[in-house]
Amino acid sequence: MYRERGGAVGKGERGHVANLKRIQEALDKQVDRSNSSSSTVFARGGINGKDPRSAFKSSTQDNMAKCSDAEVSEADSEESDVSGSDGDDTCWISWFCNLRGNEFFCEVDDDYIQDDFNLCGLSSQIPYYDYALDLILDVESSLGESFTEEQNELIESAAEMLYGLIHVRYILTSKGLAAMLEKYKNAEFGRCPKVYCCGQPCLPVGESDIPRLSTVKIYCPKCEDIYTPRSRFQESIDGAYFGTTFPHLFLMTYGHIKPQKSSQSYTPRVFGFKIHKP
Ligand SMILES: [Zn+2]
Repeated sequence: MYRERGGAVGKGERGHVANLKRIQEALDKQVDRSNSSSSTVFARGGINGKDPRSAFKSSTQDNMAKCSDAEVSEADSEESDVSGSDGDDTCWISWFCNLRGNEFFCEVDDDYIQDDFNLCGLSSQIPYYDYALDLILDVESSLGESFTEEQNELIESAAEMLYGLIHVRYILTSKGLAAMLEKYKNAEFGRCPKVYCCGQPCLPVGESDIPRLSTVKIYCPKCEDIYTPRSRFQESIDGAYFGTTFPHLFLMTYGHIKPQKSSQSYTPRVFGFKIHKP
């Protein structure tokens, strides 16, 4: 059975790095096998010398490893419930979205994932695609029994990536936008750190639509700028799982919630006098 949630708790970074290597190998094989344009996207990572993938961490592994860190927060009790032995009671999607750091993700409808049309082009980007999809949809696979622990971890990472790539499409649909609206109303994406934005709730945004190039940022609709999320757990989430379009389409769809720009701006002063600019 490869659906062993919480099994990786306490493994720490060592297993994590090995896991990244394996997924990279699998992805490279995938690129070799296929010349399709979507696979080329993956190959890009290695071209410019440093591999941006290394900046990323498989969020589940990462979250679980970080669980053991001493940082105390209200999420702790919730987290321990999630990684407990009764984790199988929740579906994979709820489990994944409730992991610490994954707060920005909304739960994608099963119906949306089950429609092949919506997943067009993803099978060539994800290793172990079929198993990853089964995992996301909680479909028990008889073949799952025969996987090694290493393969299970790889499938888990593939499922996370697949979910992210489905998620970025889903949040541009009317249902997805509505789900994100609920989260926005609760300021679940954080608030703008600018003083004159007065705690304006933000929206998640990616700086690129290509996976593994940059992490997720938050966009303030008031000052129209982007910021790094406050939580270090959220900092490791791929920006491509939210995309460059989302916050702007969201504000076009729900025009009434777009705040007015702040009329105030900060003026630096020395002994009360404005600083002369040459
Ligand atoms: Zn702002």
